[in-house]
Amino acid sequence: MGQEHGCCGFQDAARHRRRYVQSKEKHPMRQVVMYAPGDVRVEEREDPKIIESTDAIIRVTATCICGSDLWPYRGIEAVNDQVMGHEYVGVVEEIGSEVKNLKVGDFVVGSFVISDNTCEICRSGYQSKCVHGTFVSTIGTQSQKARIPLADGTLVSTPGQPDPELIPSLLAASDVLGTGWFGAVAAEAGPGKTVAVVGDGAVGLMAVLAAKQLGAERIIAMSRHPERQELARFYGATDIVEERGDEGVARIKELTNGLGAHSVIEAVGTQESIMQAIRSTRPGGHLGFVGVTHGVELLGLELFFAEIHLHGGPAPVRRFLPDLIQLIWDRKIDPGKVFDLALPLDQAAEGYKAMDERRAIKVLLTV
Ligand SMILES: [Zn+2]
Repeated sequence: MGQEHGCCGFQDAARHRRRYVQSKEKHPMRQVVMYAPGDVRVEEREDPKIIESTDAIIRVTATCICGSDLWPYRGIEAVNDQVMGHEYVGVVEEIGSEVKNLKVGDFVVGSFVISDNTCEICRSGYQSKCVHGTFVSTIGTQSQKARIPLADGTLVSTPGQPDPELIPSLLAASDVLGTGWFGAVAAEAGPGKTVAVVGDGAVGLMAVLAAKQLGAERIIAMSRHPERQELARFYGATDIVEERGDEGVARIKELTNGLGAHSVIEAVGTQESIMQAIRSTRPGGHLGFVGVTHGVELLGLELFFAEIHLHGGPAPVRRFLPDLIQLIWDRKIDPGKVFDLALPLDQAAEGYKAMDERRAIKVLLTV
């Protein structure tokens, strides 16, 4: 499947991305700005400052390009002088007077949604819908520094300063790993279950990893790209299905005694992929959908007779971050392999091009 929708961009958030005014500050930072579809530049922008007492300023160590960043790049979403990026790891440089859980010098991982982690919705595990939530895409973390509001609720410190080789994996936890993990949890992947993953982009591959960690018995990755199939197998896929659409559904049924998979994770978001996922789920089974949909319409009657559980949306990555960081710290999982190209921040334009042309699964930008 095409991978480029399987994650967490948000059209509304993108429309509201803050416009920065060119600054005359003496200490500018470098930041990625998209002027128009296909026009990505790295510019000097004003250093962020503490505004609220709950803010932290972080010096970004690594950031990356998301599949969802390709929508404005391809002109599917309006774009005009927007800061870019919502995945990040870095070092706390400054904190507001009310920040209690972090200190200057901490290495932190944050989710792509700002959350207080204290409201009733956050405490129920849905920090991506925090009553005080905003999307990090409005801040733009493809930059040397970023102001993170509600820092206590949003950021999680690592147990110490990470070895450099752990940084790609920690960065993956910021979005694609957390999103794939939520997909697997929403699909109730676990012991004795057959799990099918629709989408072989970064999120789909992370969903395979999550299903494996959650103890799934059989994991079917749907992919027709040899290098992605290989990575899916590395992360725990037991079967590969190359067919898509109705043929893909038929193959899943063949592999499951005609019943369909217990758990299906949808990580693309197109009409075809969503229908493939619904039809691949057995009656009573669970579908976790984490691909942001574009132009998808569902027929009520088909949903009615599918008789499956549906659970999805923007992943509450913050819920999973402490556990995911520990798994990475203990070297029990290696999600960082999903980055197959690393470039300096100043070469962001080439990174966007490589992902747009599908020469790269996911591009890491070193800062
Ligand atoms: Zn909240």
